[in-house]
Amino acid sequence: MTDISKLGEFGLIRHLTDNIKIKNESTIKGVGDDCAVLHYPDSEVLVTTDMLMEGVHFDLTYIDMQHLGYKSAMVNISDIFAMNGTPRQLTVSLALSKRFKVEDLKQFYSGLRLACDKWGVDIVGGDTTSSYTGLAISITCIGEARKEDIVYRNGAKDTDLICVTGDLGAAYMGLQLLEREKSVYYQQVDEARKKNDKRALESLKDFQPDFAGKEYLLQRQLQAEARGDIIARFRELNIHPTAMMDISDGLSSELMHICKESNCGCRVYEKNIPIDYQTAVMAEELNMNVTTCALNGGEDYELLFTVPIGDHEKIEQMDGVKLIGHITRPELGQMLVTRDNQEFELKAQGWNPLADK
Ligand SMILES: [Mg+2]
Repeated sequence: MTDISKLGEFGLIRHLTDNIKIKNESTIKGVGDDCAVLHYPDSEVLVTTDMLMEGVHFDLTYIDMQHLGYKSAMVNISDIFAMNGTPRQLTVSLALSKRFKVEDLKQFYSGLRLACDKWGVDIVGGDTTSSYTGLAISITCIGEARKEDIVYRNGAKDTDLICVTGDLGAAYMGLQLLEREKSVYYQQVDEARKKNDKRALESLKDFQPDFAGKEYLLQRQLQAEARGDIIARFRELNIHPTAMMDISDGLSSELMHICKESNCGCRVYEKNIPIDYQTAVMAEELNMNVTTCALNGGEDYELLFTVPIGDHEKIEQMDGVKLIGHITRPELGQMLVTRDNQEFELKAQGWNPLADK
């Protein structure tokens, strides 16, 4: 393992950004000067930024540096798609404590580059600095869209259809699974320590968590995917959503954002919420209500959008898109209709990083 100080800041940047090939016409200058230079003569420019802190947003006992790099890029790219835009450039800043080595950073960058290559995004800059406590990641993604193509959160209208892509709750269940296995591991370590059982302690080094039959949940937690395929499909089918956002904090909370911004109500049907089989099995194992998990679990990075009712047939042609309800007048509130036809007001219990835990 190589200490970062051995390369120095400039050596490190060169090492990590070497052989990056620029893919976009809008990137005039990438890494290697005081600033990146971008050129967007005919488009609106979209900018999104995200900060991820070790211990708050990720736990390096679950996720390796390559997956972390991939996910950090994807969640930003997802926000550009959520505006119906095309992601183009990305900058990345890292604060690192001494335990991180050059090899860790190379892993992180390889994940980052994989995600960027997937969606044709150029890495055009960044910064690395030191931290006393763990890892902090700040990523900014820049994209473009024609003015008339941009989809905001505030355009949903009474009778519009509410749609979601993919399935919900699996990433949250993946996190529950990782936390369960982690606590099993520490329980065994504790017991071995209490008994002073050196042999048991030694064999725990090879501890194998039990993920059998739950691979999809892990993948959804560790390998977020932005839904650029859906944006491309909108273009093919000539669909222009009236409102859209990506689901990062849970369906419930995102629906409330759209309703608030669009000044409308909504009616969502529990039976229509897409849930994978593995999510349902895991929820049952943990004695959790699977609908609650799908409504409030975060990190799905699926798209939530509304379209005029006249687009019904077009939506039916889209694979992996589910109609979950419709928009109503604001005075009707934000309602969930359960399988047994009861009605509840939707509550946003979405993950709030600023709330007390
Ligand atoms: Mg978003």
